[in-house]
Amino acid sequence: MSQQYQTTLQREVTFEGVGLHTGCRARVAIMPAPQNTGLTIRVGQGAVRALTSDLVVETVRATTIAAGGETVSTVEHLLSAVLGMGLDNAAIAVDGEEIPVMDGSARLFAEAIAQAGLTALAAPRRRFVATAPAYYRDGEGLLIVLPAADFRVRCTVDFERPVGTQYYAGEIAPAVYLREIAPARTFGWLHEVQALLARGLARGGSLDNAVVYDENGPVNELRFADEAVRHKVLDLVGDFALLGAYPQCEIVSFKSGHRLHAMAVADLRRALLSGGSAVAY
Ligand SMILES: [Zn+2]
Repeated sequence: MSQQYQTTLQREVTFEGVGLHTGCRARVAIMPAPQNTGLTIRVGQGAVRALTSDLVVETVRATTIAAGGETVSTVEHLLSAVLGMGLDNAAIAVDGEEIPVMDGSARLFAEAIAQAGLTALAAPRRRFVATAPAYYRDGEGLLIVLPAADFRVRCTVDFERPVGTQYYAGEIAPAVYLREIAPARTFGWLHEVQALLARGLARGGSLDNAVVYDENGPVNELRFADEAVRHKVLDLVGDFALLGAYPQCEIVSFKSGHRLHAMAVADLRRALLSGGSAVAY
């Protein structure tokens, strides 16, 4: 079983850059926080809010949250690094409307958390422990949550060629996450990227922060042969960071996306809070 005690950062880490969809600049700080405070977020001059699925307002292309009267989009890569690196308590402050895309992955976020280092606190980690299977569907997407001794993911994607069908399975533990998942970048198809740019979207997108495929294959160099499925695992971990407890379960995902993740997390969170099919301790 993974780590028993809650963690926080040893020091603040900050990031600055442009958002993928808006092209707007933003600044993010992740600060240490006391035990049992969990993840909190403050956007601009808005109120500090507990960072859970209750704040999700939009799941098209990216996960957007509203906190204290302000909204911020594309939170999933930052939150993926937070959960993937095993950070339980942190106060996140955002100045801007979209989290910076950085290199299109969670690598810089995860590396900064690793470099700052985590402190173990006295309180035991608050966990979501799946005690019975649950499944969720959205169109072709399927997500199954199963009891397990730790936090594990099995993920299958099935895209048009040249990405095709890819599969990844493994435990989400900090060392593995940092090496195998965090560096996987977001991706798109050249014809879609051109259409998005024509509609004024993906304004911050470039070959420096996304893998772009044309009909022959990736235009830029891949970090992993199966980088696409690894990025989907990255996104999934980020959306599960909104559960409000460490997920002790196995998640089986087939063609899932942000909307299905948000549906599942909201339902699991209800179970967590009611003490129904899951327990927290
Ligand atoms: Zn993503």
